[in-house]
Amino acid sequence: MRIRAKVSLLIVLSTVAMVVMLVGISLISFRFTSLDNEKEHGALASELARNELLISFLAGDYDHEKLEKHISTHIPDLYGIRIVRAQATADQFGAGKHEPNDAERAALKTGTSTDRLIETDGGVKYQYITPYYAEKACIQCHSVNEGTLLGLVNIELDLTQQRADAMTTTYVLIAAFLIFAAMLGYILRQLLNPIVATATAMRDVVAHAKEGKFSERMDEGRNDELGQVATQTNHLMETLEQSFGTIIREVESMETHNVGGADENLLIRTVNSVKTMVAAVRFKQTIEEDRNLNDVYERIFHALADHFQVKRFSLYEVNHDKQLMKMIYAHGLTEGVELWCEPEITVDASACRACRTAHDVSSGDDEVICTSFAGNRVCAKAGIHLNHFCTPLMQGGRIGVVLQVIFENDEIEEIQKKLPYIRTYFSEASPVIESKRLMEMLHASTLKDPMTDLYNRRFLDQFKPRLIAAAERSKKQTALLMCDVDHFKDTNDTYGHKVGDTVLIATANILDKAVRPSDYVIRYGGEEFLVIITDADEKKTMEIAERIRYKLEEHVFTSDGVNFSKTLSIGVAIFPGDSDAFDACVHLADTALYVAKDSGRNQVIRYLDGMIKDETAGT
Ligand code: GH3
Ligand code: MG
Ligand code: MG
Repeated sequence: MRIRAKVSLLIVLSTVAMVVMLVGISLISFRFTSLDNEKEHGALASELARNELLISFLAGDYDHEKLEKHISTHIPDLYGIRIVRAQATADQFGAGKHEPNDAERAALKTGTSTDRLIETDGGVKYQYITPYYAEKACIQCHSVNEGTLLGLVNIELDLTQQRADAMTTTYVLIAAFLIFAAMLGYILRQLLNPIVATATAMRDVVAHAKEGKFSERMDEGRNDELGQVATQTNHLMETLEQSFGTIIREVESMETHNVGGADENLLIRTVNSVKTMVAAVRFKQTIEEDRNLNDVYERIFHALADHFQVKRFSLYEVNHDKQLMKMIYAHGLTEGVELWCEPEITVDASACRACRTAHDVSSGDDEVICTSFAGNRVCAKAGIHLNHFCTPLMQGGRIGVVLQVIFENDEIEEIQKKLPYIRTYFSEASPVIESKRLMEMLHASTLKDPMTDLYNRRFLDQFKPRLIAAAERSKKQTALLMCDVDHFKDTNDTYGHKVGDTVLIATANILDKAVRPSDYVIRYGGEEFLVIITDADEKKTMEIAERIRYKLEEHVFTSDGVNFSKTLSIGVAIFPGDSDAFDACVHLADTALYVAKDSGRNQVIRYLDGMIKDETAGT
């Protein structure tokens, strides 16, 4: 209930209570004070009547009418007087003027005084009945003993006017009180109005503050405590507005994207911004401590799929040297489909609009903004329409990673809310991805031969344990092809070292192209290469080796207009099989190579038991 209603109710209730009390007091006062007076009045009249009666009897001048008249002149308000004889008197002097009525008979019987109010039509009477007893003087005439009941005096006084006067006084009092109550009510309302207005204004200001809007102010016009409340409240709101404003500005200046949303309230915006910042910073700390780039990508995957609950997304790594995009993962695809985009982007990074323009690309701006998006083509059968949002992450002034989020029409609103948070996470992750990528590139460079871009022996040393474990796990064999260019020294000697280098680079290319991406080609020594074919089948391995040999033999080199060709000798061993030890198998492949050299070069030789490496072969 509002204060104003409560006060009005209080005034009405207290007025009613006061009126009821006043009427009650008036009636009680009439009953007790007026009746007490009248009782005295009645007793006096009775006493007077008795005395007059006695005097008139003693004087022998008893006249009932005269007596009553005489008494009336002395008792104002007298309505009537009846002198009634008791049985003893009636027996001696006759019944008298009045036969006793019921009340009188009762008084004669009990011999005690009685009084009562008698309501009449339009009036009220007070009846006072007093019995009188024989005294010494009486027994001169009455033939009774002293103390015998002689009769009674019944006095009736008219109280109609008195009661009317009492009621008039009560009505006047009620009217006065009602006027007083009305004035009190008015004054109270006048006093309460500013309190109510201040309370209402404060309620509104606090309600706005609860919704994060601290711009509401109270009227400070008053010069009393209420004015002070308004001033203090306004001061508080100003402080809150400035403090939250500063927090949100500071936090948002650290965020790449405004995660709170423009129209959300300041409190929610601040809390959301701080929460996201804290979560993003924690995320960054976590990925910083991750072992390698793969772990970082894995964590980003879980952040997207589990934390942000994004159903479909892709992550691409941009390779600027080769101008291609490497898919890290594409999530939520239907079976048999490998990318959410046309495969072209994996061989030509410029086909990706986000990568080419370094801008966000959203199908919300234009449904076919990027022709490389294949989501709707691959999902055509499912009959769903997909939207995409691609955002490039800058690393070292170039685009390092492209994140793609794909969503159905009914997910638009939800994704739009999540995107600023996702982007904040990614912005935090960006420098970590960049540094981890650089670290990996640096590490990779120590594992590669710069001239041929093939792995080196250091790579083989590091990779060996994994290779052995994988072979043991898969229970499949690995073929080892030890290749050596025949008479390479002659090439150097004949055409120069530089031409020798081009021969080595061409040989490396032939080897690299001859095997699957899952196989490895290692520059094992100067003009020696080790090809590792995983999941090997002996027959197929021999075919590959033969194809390699043939390809190099077919290759035409040119130096200063002179064409020449080179040949390759290859020794083949199988791990496990030829030996259970990997290093031993490498040695057996080398043994087979030397046998190839020894028996004429330009040939593939499968290691056989009993082959002995002749250290002088090939020389
Ligand atoms: P064989 O048929 O018996 O293998 O004879 P070969 O001449 O190929 O073998 P040898 O071991 O006698 O000679 C290898 C030569 O390869 C010696 C070395 O100078 C040369 N070489 C090693 N690394 C490089 C390189 O990076 N570039 C060039 N141009 N030559 C290299
Ligand atoms: Mg050689
Ligand atoms: Mg050699």
